[in-house]
Amino acid sequence: MSLTRLKGGTLYDPANGVNGERRDLYMRDGRLVDAEPGASIDQDFDATGMIVMAGGIDLHSHIGGGKTNLSRLLLPEDHRGSGAGPGEESANRRYLQLPSCGVCTPGTLATGYRYAEMGYTAAFEPAMMPSNARHTHLEMGDTPIIDHGAYVMLGNDELFLQLLAERDSFERLRDYVGWTMHASKALGVKVVNPGGISAFKFNQRSLNVDEQHVHYGITPREVLHALSRALTELRVPHPLHVHASNLGVPGNIDSTIATMDAADGLPIHLTHIQFHSYGVEGPRKFSSGARTIADAVNARPNVSIDVGQIIFGQTVTASGDTMMQFKNAPLGTPKKWIVGDIECDAGCGIVPFRYREQSYVNALQWIIGLEIFLLIDDPWRVSMTTDHPNGGPFTSYPHLIRLLMDKGFRDEQIAKLNPEAQVASALPELKREFSLYDIAIITRAGPARLLGLKDRGHLGAGAAADIAVYRDEADKERMFTSPAYVFKNGQLVARDGTLVATPTGGIHYVSPDFDHGIEKTLRAYSAKNLVGNPVHTAISDDEICSCCRGGRLLPVACLSAGT
Ligand SMILES: [Zn+2]
Ligand SMILES: [Zn+2]
Repeated sequence: MSLTRLKGGTLYDPANGVNGERRDLYMRDGRLVDAEPGASIDQDFDATGMIVMAGGIDLHSHIGGGKTNLSRLLLPEDHRGSGAGPGEESANRRYLQLPSCGVCTPGTLATGYRYAEMGYTAAFEPAMMPSNARHTHLEMGDTPIIDHGAYVMLGNDELFLQLLAERDSFERLRDYVGWTMHASKALGVKVVNPGGISAFKFNQRSLNVDEQHVHYGITPREVLHALSRALTELRVPHPLHVHASNLGVPGNIDSTIATMDAADGLPIHLTHIQFHSYGVEGPRKFSSGARTIADAVNARPNVSIDVGQIIFGQTVTASGDTMMQFKNAPLGTPKKWIVGDIECDAGCGIVPFRYREQSYVNALQWIIGLEIFLLIDDPWRVSMTTDHPNGGPFTSYPHLIRLLMDKGFRDEQIAKLNPEAQVASALPELKREFSLYDIAIITRAGPARLLGLKDRGHLGAGAAADIAVYRDEADKERMFTSPAYVFKNGQLVARDGTLVATPTGGIHYVSPDFDHGIEKTLRAYSAKNLVGNPVHTAISDDEICSCCRGGRLLPVACLSAGT
């Protein structure tokens, strides 16, 4: 019941229209509260001259589930010498933190530690397979401090494609989507290469938006339309989360725009859009489509995106897009890869990769990501991601923030790139520099709004006291690397980039309304195909709570009728 005051900070709280105002904040019982005149302050923190924002929210980061774990197994070298040898630990670290390491494939513990040290208080796994949901929640539950949640993968599973191909009852399909979200305790639905992961199993090597799946006769456009309609009718706040067709293919801008339009004006979120913004101009037949894509997003208010910025250096690509990962396997650095599948539920492909400044293609990918950030007008529809670890590890966010805020720094980096890519770029002409207010939108307020998290991502009374306090420094990379204070539910968890507490994070999910009669269809499907009974995969409230080490259940309200 004690009252904590954070004194004298300058607030950037876009959800409440607060742009750089000096204000004290008060916290009680893990929540922000209004000032209570005359109340005695139990604990005081001095934030004079510092920048105060809500805790960061990463809406697309691969932090749990089969492919995250397989990536860790595939890359033991990422865990050697990445700083958790007991000998090099300070006493504080030794007693507070358990050993955990890794950069592009951090362990569950290191994931929570590194996010919290940077001022992030929530991250969301975008690719949970329904049959593997328990495992995904167990891994996220093992990730300390930060809140978490996941989007369940649909649209390449046999039952969905069968129901869609039958074309008789949209209601059954919608109830199946609702049931899957309910059973897997999901916060959203993600579709990866709609229909394409399944088509790959029938030996198709690509599937364009209006191309037919050879077995089911359906098209990606139909998958996208059915899923976005189902989520709208189920009143799920987060729009359909889409990894579009033709990832990484030169000339994919056309299919990316066709993907936006497949939603027919319903809300749709295109993830890691950088990988879907490629043209075919120039001598290398690979060019930036950022302007075309940004114009398309600017013209379609139903579309939101996250970028999937690439960062130079070693990483690993871990994707549900088996079709594309099979194609990418020969590019693996180091040379090893995995593709896999569980019960025809979706797919999975892991290929280690090193992005190089002197590679024309990689340099242009880096340029395209930044162009997209700078060319989309409405920051509320743009979330900052590297598609961790696919474009680069999430620990590079402070570097990315500096690239967006500091044109001089950006120009220095451009000068290091492959010369042909520099010439092919419009980036030097883009003078925009993000303000702290813009950064607060793309890293917390915007993602919270897109996910329907009403009490996160802002600093108003009633919000969770998830707060990051940064020293105002000219070098924005340094500033965002080591916040002076990070609070999680009102508890100080990090000070000057060093952890001081490791509480358990909560889990965000939705419980949409649907007709439970759909379980008859599920039982019939499992009996006929001799697969595990999907009804047995359903996770109860008690179970999710124990999966998440007693972390708080944070159900997200569905939208009310008429919104
Ligand atoms: Zn993806
Ligand atoms: Zn991803």
